Amino acid sequence: MTNKKEENEFIKNGVIAHRGAWKLNALPQNSIASLEQAIELGCEGSEFDVWLTADDILVVNHDPDFLGIPIESSTYQELLEKKLPNGENIPTAEAYIRRGMEQHQTRLIFELKPSKVSQERGLKAAKKSVELVRQLGAQKWIDYITFDYEAGKRIIELDPDANVAYLMSDKAPTELKEDGFFGLDYHIRVLKEKPEWITEAQELGLTVNAWTVNKEEDMKWLLDMNVDFITTDEPELLLKIIELNKK
Ligand code: MG
Repeated sequence: MTNKKEENEFIKNGVIAHRGAWKLNALPQNSIASLEQAIELGCEGSEFDVWLTADDILVVNHDPDFLGIPIESSTYQELLEKKLPNGENIPTAEAYIRRGMEQHQTRLIFELKPSKVSQERGLKAAKKSVELVRQLGAQKWIDYITFDYEAGKRIIELDPDANVAYLMSDKAPTELKEDGFFGLDYHIRVLKEKPEWITEAQELGLTVNAWTVNKEEDMKWLLDMNVDFITTDEPELLLKIIELNKK
């Protein structure tokens, strides 16, 4: 990893737990429990997905609905009608980040979901996200990722020091660099088709991340390509491969 994060004590193994580390212990994805498990494992980062409710609360969930309740057209209070299988409420981004800030080894990979309501709503979510992170003083814990290119640019505009990587896998590294992105975070299939994007990104000083990498052969290939991060549902497997590589 590059520049400003160098001086801190965060782990540098490149392992990003996708929606937390949930799979092996059958925890709900995007729960505080899955974040805690990613921390426990010693992942460099734990990824989570963020939406903005109708009453402007940032909450953590993968799908646009929370157990059947549409997030963007519901209030936060309405989302509390259901609970995750482990008994947690839908986490607010604030609670999630606060839990992450209790430690200094695992960083928080904040995926801002593109709004299904409007571009304007997506840009508002970007603004709310930057404000929340700033208010909590969480900048050094957070890297942003997003499929919404305009929202990504808005985050960079509002916080020029923010690390923002783009997920859609449809832009060449040069364009991301020109627009101030920190890195690319592309589908493993796209990176295998266009391995030159990895080297181009590396030459431009962009970080390279891949999603969602669950096969051992893909993990090994990415490690050989010297990427910065690998996002996986199988962090235990990736950690084991990295450990064996050291020997
Ligand atoms: Mg995600």
